[in-house]
Amino acid sequence: MIQNPNRVALLLSGGPDSTTLLYDLLNQGKEIYAVTFNFGETEGCNESQHAQRIVTNLHSERLHHYQYDFSEQFKRFYELPQPQFLRKAFGPFVVAPNKEEHVQPFGSAIALMLMASWALKHDIVDVYYAVHSNDAVFHDNHASYFEALHTVTVECEGDEYGVTFHTPYLSINKCAVIQKGMGLGVPFGDTWSCALGGTVHCGVCDPCRDRRTSFEILGIKDPVLYEHDIFAESREEVNILESPKHISVVA
Ligand SMILES: [Zn+2]
Repeated sequence: MIQNPNRVALLLSGGPDSTTLLYDLLNQGKEIYAVTFNFGETEGCNESQHAQRIVTNLHSERLHHYQYDFSEQFKRFYELPQPQFLRKAFGPFVVAPNKEEHVQPFGSAIALMLMASWALKHDIVDVYYAVHSNDAVFHDNHASYFEALHTVTVECEGDEYGVTFHTPYLSINKCAVIQKGMGLGVPFGDTWSCALGGTVHCGVCDPCRDRRTSFEILGIKDPVLYEHDIFAESREEVNILESPKHISVVA
């Protein structure tokens, strides 16, 4: 029997989107069980460290943080040095998403079903995931996909234990998420986006470009350090108006 509908689980990567959702849910009075996975991705260690710092600095009794490191198991399972599981937004500079290059088959289903299983073990049926409209270029970030995963949990465990995947930012873009985060006091300087495993953000990978561009569009200084600042180095080459049409820069 699920006892407390105010208990929710959150996939917390330590990035700006999931951190904004964390602050959003705390602001709504939720009791949050935040989970950070390390599946062996290049950015896995950085994400875990940043998520931990964000949680520690919040000092909230309504926030419980759990970290799980499956990196060695998944590296061995897939025989890859850095397997990827969740498709992340690409910057508006990239013409088309490369769906096949990094992500393992059913990668997001593995991550989200693992989360669903963990949630039910903690008497939670509401899982929050901070994907936004930039992420929705990938089929496994569509609302229909999350509804299908919910159906699987109902078929497997019964109506009472069906897990709902809440994606409250799916209808807004990254700019709007960051804008919301600014209003909630999110410490963006403590968040991590880079897909590479460096000590500072590289500035040129897709998640870095997506992040950096979103701050630039908003006219807000991104507090993290970049190894390469695409706007400072080649401002004349960057034209945000040339973004692919399926990415709207205004929510
Ligand atoms: Zn990067």
